[in-house]
Amino acid sequence: MKYYSTNHNTRPTSLAAAVTTGLAPDSGLYMPEQIRPLPEDFFNDIQDMTFRQIACRVAENFFGDDISKDDLHNIVCDTLAFDCPVVNVGGNIWSLELFHGPTLAFKDVGARFMARMLAYFSKSEPDTGTVGNVNVLVATSGDTGSAVANGFLGVNGVHVFVLYPKGKVSPIQECQFTTLGRNITALEVDGTFDDCQALVKDAFADDELNGKLRLTSANSINVARFLPQSFYYFNAYARMKERGLAGNLVICVPSGNFGNITAGLFAHRMGLPVKRFIAANNANDVFLQYLNTGQYSPRPSVRTVANAMDVGAPSNFARILDMFGNSHEDICKIISGAAYTDGEIVNAIADCHNQYGYTLDPHGACGWLALRDNLSEDETGVFLETAHPAKFKDTVERATGENLAMPERLEAFTRGEKQSIAMTTEFSDFKRYLLNNAE
Ligand SMILES: *Cc1c(COP(=O)(O)O)cnc(C)c1O
Repeated sequence: MKYYSTNHNTRPTSLAAAVTTGLAPDSGLYMPEQIRPLPEDFFNDIQDMTFRQIACRVAENFFGDDISKDDLHNIVCDTLAFDCPVVNVGGNIWSLELFHGPTLAFKDVGARFMARMLAYFSKSEPDTGTVGNVNVLVATSGDTGSAVANGFLGVNGVHVFVLYPKGKVSPIQECQFTTLGRNITALEVDGTFDDCQALVKDAFADDELNGKLRLTSANSINVARFLPQSFYYFNAYARMKERGLAGNLVICVPSGNFGNITAGLFAHRMGLPVKRFIAANNANDVFLQYLNTGQYSPRPSVRTVANAMDVGAPSNFARILDMFGNSHEDICKIISGAAYTDGEIVNAIADCHNQYGYTLDPHGACGWLALRDNLSEDETGVFLETAHPAKFKDTVERATGENLAMPERLEAFTRGEKQSIAMTTEFSDFKRYLLNNAE
C-alpha cells in the first residue's frame, strides 16, 4: 500500500519510506491510500477473539501488503504485552483503560509498535526495503519521551535521542527516560520545550545531517505510531459486545494532538459500529471552536492540569480534514466536542471518586465529564482513560483528599541512575553532537 501526503505535493511513497521519514517532504502528514472495510464476519465473531487476535487482523488490513503475516503478527504480539480492558465506572459509562503498559500511558502502544516496525525496516536483510540504522529524535515536555524511550529500549538498529527542557519536566517523568541507557540518550536542553522542538525541527531540515544520518520522528505524525492506536477501539467494541452493550456505542477521547481520536475515526471507516465520537478537550479548545464555527484558528497553548493535552495547533487535524474531504458538515455528523476548565477537571476527579470509587487521571476526567454531560439514556459511553492517575499524583490527591499508591512499575524508575547530556539551545551545538555521536 502506498502512503500519500495530506498536502498532496509529494509522490505517494512506500510504508518503509513513510515510517523512516515521519513527515512528508511537503510538510504534510502521510495517509494510507486506502482504508479498507473489514468483512462482516469479522464483526460478527469479534466478541470471541482476544485483543491480540483482533489487533493482528486490523494490522493486516493496513500493513499486510508490505510485511509478511508472520512478521506482522510478531510485531503486534510483542507490542501488546499488556491488556487494554474496559471497566464500568458507574451507570452507562465505561473506561477503556489504556494505562497498563510500561510507562502507564496509552502512548506505549504506538511507541512499541513503531519501534518494532522501524527495527523490521532497518534490518540488514535484502527484500524488506532495508534502510539501515535509524536515529529517532523526540522533543518532549514529559510523557512522549518516556513512552518513546521505553518503547524503543533495546530495539536493534534504532537509536533514540530524547530532548527535554532542563528543570521543566516532573522528576518521575525525567527518570523514565534518563535512567535507561543502552540505545536511549537523554539530552537535557537549557531552555524550554519549544526550544527542544525547534532543535528537532531544524535537524530534520538540515541537508548535511540528512545526507549523513537517517533521522525520523516518533510523535503521532508517524503512521507507525498513529495507526496501531486503532487496535484498542476494536477491542473496546468486542469487550462491550461480549457484555451485550455494543448497540449504541459512543466513544469519547481526551484529545491534544488528535492522533488518538483520528485512529478511532480510521477504525470507524474500517466498519467499526460506533454511533459517534466525542473529542474532550481542556482549556485548549481550538477543535471545539472549529466544530462550533467552521473556522480553524490555532493559537498558543495554555497550561492546564491535563498537560498532555496542552496543544494549541493539533497536528492530526490535517488528517481529519483530509479524511472528510474538508467537509465541516461531515465532520460534525460523526464528532462532537466538549471542553473543561481546570476547576471542572479537579471537581470531576473528586465527584467520580466519591460517587463511584473510580479514580480518574486529569485527562480521563475530561472524557468522563464529556460523557456525563452528553450521553443519552439509550447510549453506552466508553471514554479512553489515557494515563494512570498516579502519573498525576499531586492533582489527583488534591482532588480526592486521599493518598494514591505509586504502582511498582513507576516506583522502579525512580531507583535508576540519571544519565543525561547537557545541551544548549544553539542548533550548531546539537548538530555537532549528532554528527559525532549518531550512526
Ligand atoms: C498524549 C496524551 C493525550 C492526547 O492524545 P493525542 O493523540 O495527542 O490527542 C491525552 N492524554 C494523555 C495522558 C496523553 O499522554
